[in-house]
Amino acid sequence: MGAKFVLVANRLPVSVTRTEEGFSFKPSVGGLATALSSISTEKILWVGWPGLPSEEFSGNKEEVARELQALGCHPVCLSRQEIETFYHGFANRTLWPLCHYFLQYTVFDPDYWEGYRQVNRRYAETVAELADEEAVVWVHDYQLFLVPGLLRKLLPRATIGFFLHIPFPSYEVFRVLPWRREILEGLLGADLIGFHTYEYARHFLSSLRRLLGYEHQLGLVTTETRAVKVEVFPISIDYFKFARAAEDPEVQARIEALRQEVGDRRLILSVDRLDYTKGIPQRLRAYEVFLERYPEWREQVVLVLVGVPSRTEVEHYQELKSEVDQLIGRINGRFGTLSWTPVHYLYRSLSFPELAALYWRAEVALVTPLRDGMNLIAKEYVATVPEDRGVLVLSEMAGAAAELSEALLVNPFSQEELVTTLREALSLPRDEKIERNRRMKERLRRYDVHRWTREFLAALEEIRKLQETFVSHQLVGGSREELLLAFVQAERPIFFLDYDGTLTGFVSRPERAAPDAALRDLLSRLARIARVVLISGRAPEILGKWFGDLPLTLVAEHGVFIREDSTWQLTGDYSNEWKETVRPILELYADRTPGAFVEEKPYSLVWHYRLAESELGEMRAHELKEALLDLVQPLGLMVLEGRKVLEIKPREINKGVIARRLLAEGDYDFILAMGDDWTDEYLFEALPPESFTVKIGYGLTRARFRLEGVAEARRFLEELWQKKTSSTPGPS
Ligand code: UDP
Repeated sequence: MGAKFVLVANRLPVSVTRTEEGFSFKPSVGGLATALSSISTEKILWVGWPGLPSEEFSGNKEEVARELQALGCHPVCLSRQEIETFYHGFANRTLWPLCHYFLQYTVFDPDYWEGYRQVNRRYAETVAELADEEAVVWVHDYQLFLVPGLLRKLLPRATIGFFLHIPFPSYEVFRVLPWRREILEGLLGADLIGFHTYEYARHFLSSLRRLLGYEHQLGLVTTETRAVKVEVFPISIDYFKFARAAEDPEVQARIEALRQEVGDRRLILSVDRLDYTKGIPQRLRAYEVFLERYPEWREQVVLVLVGVPSRTEVEHYQELKSEVDQLIGRINGRFGTLSWTPVHYLYRSLSFPELAALYWRAEVALVTPLRDGMNLIAKEYVATVPEDRGVLVLSEMAGAAAELSEALLVNPFSQEELVTTLREALSLPRDEKIERNRRMKERLRRYDVHRWTREFLAALEEIRKLQETFVSHQLVGGSREELLLAFVQAERPIFFLDYDGTLTGFVSRPERAAPDAALRDLLSRLARIARVVLISGRAPEILGKWFGDLPLTLVAEHGVFIREDSTWQLTGDYSNEWKETVRPILELYADRTPGAFVEEKPYSLVWHYRLAESELGEMRAHELKEALLDLVQPLGLMVLEGRKVLEIKPREINKGVIARRLLAEGDYDFILAMGDDWTDEYLFEALPPESFTVKIGYGLTRARFRLEGVAEARRFLEELWQKKTSSTPGPS
């Protein structure tokens, strides 16, 4: 039996290295490993790269795999060549700079892309071999953007979550990537896609809309075949590990050592991987200007700068290393004295006690990345430092700024802001420090990493349940028999039938869609064996003209008007004031799009583009939706997307509302609903679960059943008539 729960990340939480005796297996440091350590480790299978090129295993592959298996891990082996193109190439030279807005560093190399695709395929295939058909698979980060899509093909019934640990850039940046569509399609294989901040989620949704044309409703994206949920889960830290660090004797020993080394001087702390996104040179230059401008602070402060070596194979990291070396040399040479070194530089990774002691002791933490998905250093510092000592100076460009708003926030590109904020931080009154730190600590305590993990997995479970409601079956065989039988036995049946696209085909001029004689005959017969409600987006005049003489209930304009006997009634008290705001925008877009026009309905406005050149029409419709986005929410409106139309109307008007009202007024024992587009989904959703809901045509639906097209729909209604009339003595 395959694994039920699989975690897939570029790296395993265990690093394999070669030793003289063979191989050694060490837990690897990193935010993700910590974050996931809170899930009980038994029953979890980790799939990832163990950190060594496969050539190094030379014939020991099985042995390494066995050792890893004992640790709950399964290796994805990568050759030197694959590490070069997939990891150092596409991941670190293309996606990393692109997502961090470093377009000038972004390399677009088709060989990198090819390597990335191949390796993503390897990850997906490895998971598919090991996982149960209905496993929960959690895929992590930008190295594996294509894995959800590939995995979906291999394991269609799996529940797949994806979390992005870095920023998702603005559409204007993302669109530059030659393989942007493939990346988005790869991600859409997931059921749930998580981001650190609302901004990243928004950028992603906007890229989906503009590049693939997919809309979303409150983060639920619907494609032709699936629904995908996009949500925000800011990653956090193991709060108590840091908050209680000072109780640990090893940390105390390091604190004591620091006391000896730093004395009474104020300690300014800077900790990062040595990465160009972290803004280290900008920070150093600001420190230099600070010392120059405020000589009273010289000898009073010490900057401890920890630069953890990172991606040393990539040229921009090498350049950064020498730039940082030079800047530190310059500052120490310029301001240092025999008894004072302005910058203490540690170019290595620190142990937990060393790091915690620095967090605990530092009066100021300068966390000023130019761009950072989250930044855990900021959170770890706030959790560790005593509330009356520390001040966090935090970049607005770090995801953490969305939560740590009590920090002193800075724009890291502004040297002036960095300099003055550093000065402010050093002189912040004690009370103010306490107040700011308390609030931030409290928030971190409540939303810690365990909660992050729990919330992601809970959301994944929820979307899994939701997916089940989208499964619909062809209305054939047993289910068709069951429906027919229920109908034959029913005494008070009701039918809700959409018109265009359900009972009649789509035509380019709506006025030509008049019902043929056969359809009118079918409807009048059906009206003898059921209450038939024709529920349409069309105007009352036209429905009246076509069907006014038949014994049907007519619902026009998605529920604004109803005709139960011979007169039309307004169903509610709807406002029209919003039209003044929206109409000019629709007209502007109509003027810019030859063939498009605005139709004014009593309680809605419709932007038609079926007569426009098709590509231009689609493009303008997307733009128009974007333009309306900020308006619809506050005005209580919704945009309905029909075939070649956008209809803007009050949210409280939809087919579901009116259907519910009619059901409440009568006592029906059989409910049938048939429809073909999004407006009918409101109807399907509103009906009791035992109703027979039928989607006509393709596309994602909440309906239980599906029929291929108008011809099948009519044939099916004809069958209902036949069955009922042949099983009863004959309708009156
Ligand atoms: N870290 C560490 N040793 C060090 C410096 C940092 O273990 O010498 C850890 C630190 O505790 C934090 C992580 O590395 O959890 C850095 O995460 P962050 O989100 O700040 O940056 P990233 O490296 O993911 O870009």
